[in-house]
Amino acid sequence: MNPNNPEAEKQFKEVAEAFEVLSDDQKRSLYDRYGHEGLSGTSFRDFSGMGLDDLFGGFGIFDSIFNAFGGGTRARTSGPRARRGQDVRLNIDLSFEDAMKGMKKTIKVPNWAQCPTCHGNRVKEGKSLLKCSTCDGVGEVRQVQRTAFGQMINITTCPKCRGEGEMLKKGTECKTCKGVGKVKQSRTVEAQIPAGVDNGTRVVIQGEGRPGELGGPSGDLYLVINVFPHPFFQRNGADILLEYPISFLDAVLGTKLLIPTINGNEKITIKPGTPSGEVITLRKKGAPYPNRSGHGDMHIVINVKFPRKLEKIVKQTLIELQESDKTDYVFRDNSELAKFLLSQE
Ligand SMILES: [Zn+2]
Ligand SMILES: [Zn+2]
Repeated sequence: MNPNNPEAEKQFKEVAEAFEVLSDDQKRSLYDRYGHEGLSGTSFRDFSGMGLDDLFGGFGIFDSIFNAFGGGTRARTSGPRARRGQDVRLNIDLSFEDAMKGMKKTIKVPNWAQCPTCHGNRVKEGKSLLKCSTCDGVGEVRQVQRTAFGQMINITTCPKCRGEGEMLKKGTECKTCKGVGKVKQSRTVEAQIPAGVDNGTRVVIQGEGRPGELGGPSGDLYLVINVFPHPFFQRNGADILLEYPISFLDAVLGTKLLIPTINGNEKITIKPGTPSGEVITLRKKGAPYPNRSGHGDMHIVINVKFPRKLEKIVKQTLIELQESDKTDYVFRDNSELAKFLLSQE
């Protein structure tokens, strides 16, 4: 439409590229992961280096675009169109343990079912729906436009019957469903929640959403997971963190500890002279990955505790120890500080 406007040409190419990507599942997933660069080496057509003549001439890309959006030269002779059912989203609360182990869960899905009285026909017995006068029962309205490129046919869903091609006449509604054709129900779905799900994980159960209309497929059921926090374990993806307090004596002398993990207790060794904040990692003892095999790691953060009040015997022993400890920590461990000290004298 704007032959002398380079900005319009650029937008045109972007539309062509977007269509090329969206109409091919493999290319779309490459594009989602790596952007434009991910498509080099595939049969992706790079439109940025082409002139407008190429776009219209050789490839027929715009025929494809118009056909994909339900327009163009493709004749529609079928009646009202089938509609895919809506997706249903439900929030699922899980305990930390259940999220770690995974589970089968029975879920009540609020649902609409076909009306048992009119079997979805929406009318009382003996009555029928009227053919929509706006679209003559086709469900679509066509408008012919003349443009620089010739005749364009613009097809939209009929606004009066919303594409169904039929209308309900007042007073003929089915009493049970009030003319909707569906009644509210809930049904149960057995869902398998994989081990390792986290807050915000979405579990998709295909075909368990709302039923489709006029022969269309059902939507999907989305379970959005919420995991209650654990009193001790913290999660960072598939890694599990545990803060573990030990006595200053154990930190000095070293010890063996029994540590809880998500799969039972584990023995670990604390080396002599372990400082507070030291992290001990147990490989592959964390949460399972929900979408592949393997586990994250378990990290134990050591928190060395110094009591404000010592037992009498401990205090006495420590005083004796302090007096007999001949280690000079400043001169042994920090010679720079030692030099500074001496320079002050
Ligand atoms: Zn009914
Ligand atoms: Zn209509």
